[in-house]
Amino acid sequence: MAISNELRIAVMPGDGIGDEIMAPCLELLELVRAKVGGFALGYDWVEAGAGLYARTGEALPDAAIRRASDADAILLAAMGLPDVRYPDGREIVPQVDIREILDLYAGVRPVRTFPGMRLPLADERAQHLDLVLVRESTEGLFWGRGKSFVDKDEAHDKMVITRIGTERVCQYAFELAQRRKARGHEGRVTCVDKANVLGSMAFFREVFDGCAGRYKEIAADHCYVDAMALKLIRNPWDNDVLVTENMFGDILSDAGAALMGGMGLAPSADIGDKHAVFQPCHGTAPDIMGTGKANPTAMILSAAMMLDWLGERHNSDKLVEAGDVLDQAVRTAFADGELVPYEMGGAAGLREISGRVKDALKAA
Ligand code: ATP
Repeated sequence: MAISNELRIAVMPGDGIGDEIMAPCLELLELVRAKVGGFALGYDWVEAGAGLYARTGEALPDAAIRRASDADAILLAAMGLPDVRYPDGREIVPQVDIREILDLYAGVRPVRTFPGMRLPLADERAQHLDLVLVRESTEGLFWGRGKSFVDKDEAHDKMVITRIGTERVCQYAFELAQRRKARGHEGRVTCVDKANVLGSMAFFREVFDGCAGRYKEIAADHCYVDAMALKLIRNPWDNDVLVTENMFGDILSDAGAALMGGMGLAPSADIGDKHAVFQPCHGTAPDIMGTGKANPTAMILSAAMMLDWLGERHNSDKLVEAGDVLDQAVRTAFADGELVPYEMGGAAGLREISGRVKDALKAA
C-alpha cells in the first residue's frame, strides 16, 4: 500500500563521526525511496549531544525532544565525547535519556553476518548468523543511573525489574519471533538471566514464562547470562531471539557486534509503543573522526530497519520492500569479499563503502 502523507524523520547526527555516516545514509535512503516508490520522507535535522552541550550548556533541549517525538521515526548516529562531561564527571549520553523519555523499552540488536565478511569465527555457520538480541531498555541495572549511593567505603546501585516492564519486552520478543517464523526462522525465544543468583532475575524469568504460555507456537527456553556469553562464542548459530535485562543486553550486544566483524557493522533499534530510534550500536568513535575511516554500514542497516518498522506500522509493503532492498544492497556490496573496512584490517573507508552500496542499489 502506498502512503499518501510524507513521513517525518527526525535526523540526529550527534557527535564524532555522526555527521560523516549520516550523510551517505540519507543519500541512500533517497535513492531507495526513488527506486521503490509509494512513500515520501521528509527530514527534520535535530541537534543534540556533547557538542551542543559544550556550546550551550544543554545536551538535549526540550525543543529537540519535542521535535523527535513529533516525528514518525528518529534516525540517530551517535552522541557523546570523552572529554565533554557534566560537572559531576558523568558522560553526556542524550541517546540514553531519549530511550527513557520516549519509553523505548525494546532494544533490538540483530546479529547477522553476510558471506564475504572477515569474521572472527572460522566455522562456516558463522557466515550465516541471523539472531536477534532484545534488550530491556528502561529499567534493570541502568535504573540506578544518576541515583548511585557512594560513600567512602561502599557504593550501591539498585536494579529494578517490574512486571509491566518485563511483560512488554517479553511480549515484543515473542511477537518478533512470530514475525521471524513467518520468514523461515525457528520461532524460539530464550530468556537470558541470572535466576540462580538474584531474586530480581528469578522474577524476570517467572514473568517471561507467563508470557511464553500465551505464544504456544513459539518455543521458549532459558539460559544463564554467563552460559550465553560462552554460547555466543562457541555456537551462536543455535539462537533465534534472546530477551534480557538492560545491563546484560548492553554487554551481550557488543559481543554480538564482534560476531558480525566489528562495531561499524552492527545496527540497532530502540522501540516503544509510539516512538522508535534507529541508530548504529557503536559510539562516536572520536579517534577516527575526520579520517575517512568510519564504516557507515551499521548506520545504513539501521535505516533499513527503520523502513521495515515504518512499513509494519503503516501497513505499507512498499516501505517493507524498501528496507529489504537497502539491506540487500549492503549484502551485495560486501559479497565478493573485496570490501574490507579499516576496522577489520582492510582499506575500505566511508567513501568506498558508501559508493559500493550505492552502486549495488542502482543495479538492483
Ligand atoms: P560508547 O561508549 O558510546 O559505546 P565507545 O567509546 O565505547 O562508545 P566507540 O565510539 O563505538 O566506543 O568506539 C570503539 C572503537 O570502535 C573505536 O576504536 C572506534 O574507532 C571503533 N569504531 C566505532 N564505530 C566505528 C565505525 N562506524 N567505523 C569504524 N570504526 C568504528
